[in-house]
Amino acid sequence: MSASQKMNSSRSNEVDAVVIGAGFAGLYMVHRLKELGLSHRAFEQGGGVGGTWYWNRYPGASSDSESWVYSYTFSPELEQDWQWSCRFPEQAEILRYLEHVADRFDLKRSFDFNTRVTSASYDEASGFWTVETDGGERVRTKYLITAVGCLSAAQVPKIPGLERFQGKWYHTGQWPHEKVDFSGKRVGVVGTGSSGIQSIPIIAKQAKHLTVFQRTPNFSVPARNAPIGPEQMRKLKRDIRQIRETCRWATIGQPYDLLPTTALEVDPEERRKHYEADWQKGGFEWMFGSYCDLLFNEKANETAAEFVREKIRGTVKDPEVARKLIPRGYPIGTKRLPLDTDYFETFNRENVELVDLRESSIEEIVPSGIRTRDKTYPLDAIVFATGFDALTGPLTRIGIRGRGGQRLDEKWSTGPRTYLGVSTLGFPNMFMITGPGSPSVLGNMPTSIEQHVDWISDCIAHLRNKGATTIEPTKDAEDAWGAHVKELGDGTLFPQTDSWYMGANIPGKPRVFLPYIGGFGTYRKLCDEIAAKGYEGFSIT
Ligand code: NAP
Repeated sequence: MSASQKMNSSRSNEVDAVVIGAGFAGLYMVHRLKELGLSHRAFEQGGGVGGTWYWNRYPGASSDSESWVYSYTFSPELEQDWQWSCRFPEQAEILRYLEHVADRFDLKRSFDFNTRVTSASYDEASGFWTVETDGGERVRTKYLITAVGCLSAAQVPKIPGLERFQGKWYHTGQWPHEKVDFSGKRVGVVGTGSSGIQSIPIIAKQAKHLTVFQRTPNFSVPARNAPIGPEQMRKLKRDIRQIRETCRWATIGQPYDLLPTTALEVDPEERRKHYEADWQKGGFEWMFGSYCDLLFNEKANETAAEFVREKIRGTVKDPEVARKLIPRGYPIGTKRLPLDTDYFETFNRENVELVDLRESSIEEIVPSGIRTRDKTYPLDAIVFATGFDALTGPLTRIGIRGRGGQRLDEKWSTGPRTYLGVSTLGFPNMFMITGPGSPSVLGNMPTSIEQHVDWISDCIAHLRNKGATTIEPTKDAEDAWGAHVKELGDGTLFPQTDSWYMGANIPGKPRVFLPYIGGFGTYRKLCDEIAAKGYEGFSIT
């Protein structure tokens, strides 16, 4: 018997709710279940709380949303007490915050850590789910609540020869807990998404030599991270409730919103000035506090894309390296826009080399390094910053079986089908926090999470008050929601691009736009209206 099993041997094997995951979502869900007085168990694969921030410990890992909104709102006291050090906190600081929240609200005792849920099956006769863990436990529960994150199923590409590599290799999303020291080492980073773009400048400073293997050049906007001074802190503490209220209704859950103006109605010089001013401010606001047509109109998008291309040309000294780094052929923002600190500047360093995989792709990994079509690059370490099986992957890999033994991965084999991204037909009493078909990754994650957790908690309270046994979406509601999510996605530029938003980064995954892009505030309003109408679109028995 493992230590955690021993510790939990007094725990009940029949509860009202099981929560899977101890990140932002799982912690807050457990807090709400406790408030509701519901018996519960919670399981977490990692050895502690933190979710994304437990696993993603790679050099440079930090939030891309400002600290004052990348945090919980449910406790004004917590909000006032906690002091963020800077605009975009690093992984260690966010993990400290989540540890603090878990301790302050006494949440850890609800969790079994180092415990992976290996299956969850619904039994129609009893109306209960049976959850099994790799610790050999079986727990019966009325409600199954997944808090497994959107970007937690790490993806290491299947490149032949990896098992023969004599150096060490890492995935950014499964980084070791002990410090990885690249001093004096020849390091290769594969991938230039947000994780690559955050880690490359830091690794470059440490390593003897860094080779960046780039398949698709990425746009990136400066973060311009900075400490929060006493005066800024005072203002933040004073205004925080108003800032949060703005986030609750904004398009991407941030304290700013799209401008009412379109890019094309503005004089080119004025437009350039606007892009430049926001470029100096840094952060997502550059794109998401900007002209409202950037993600809908190719010509408008091109004005922003060309502005960034000019910045790259102006930063990277070697014109040939700049040419390789300049993104073309897809609209800016349709791959998740990274924020960076000196990413393009890093390619001016003597010890950094850029390999353009479009010109010479990776053929295999050899014991001494990576071999492309043209050349072998000797390496002591490889960092895969190659992303995740986004949104659906964390759910389909659990082994969830609904009514009649139907497997979730089979139901979703042609793409996820959900109602509001929170529930799916055939899986009664299962709630997915920030599931596919909800705004999730298109909003500030803690804002998206709190909205879902609050909605789910209210829904469970409603069911309890009514004495109801099951809730499940109707087929009509699920079909209509799927069509609506698709229609909204099709109205944007996203489907033009191979990205994880489209499932296109995973070989064989259906090409479907995964999140809901109707705006976070609009979605919140809709969810509230559905609840007010007695959970319209759900069948409650
Ligand atoms: P990602 O955006 O999916 O980027 C993966 C990179 O690896 C891409 O450049 C991709 O190239 C490349 N790649 C994948 N397979 C490859 C292969 N077989 N050979 C060569 N290159 C390959 O993954 P990520 O950077 O981990 O970021 C994922 C998401 O996590 C982000 O978009 C963001 O939402 C979130 N994230 C957030 C933060 C933050 O908020 N602070 C930080 C990191 C990540 P292609 O483009 O050609 O596919």
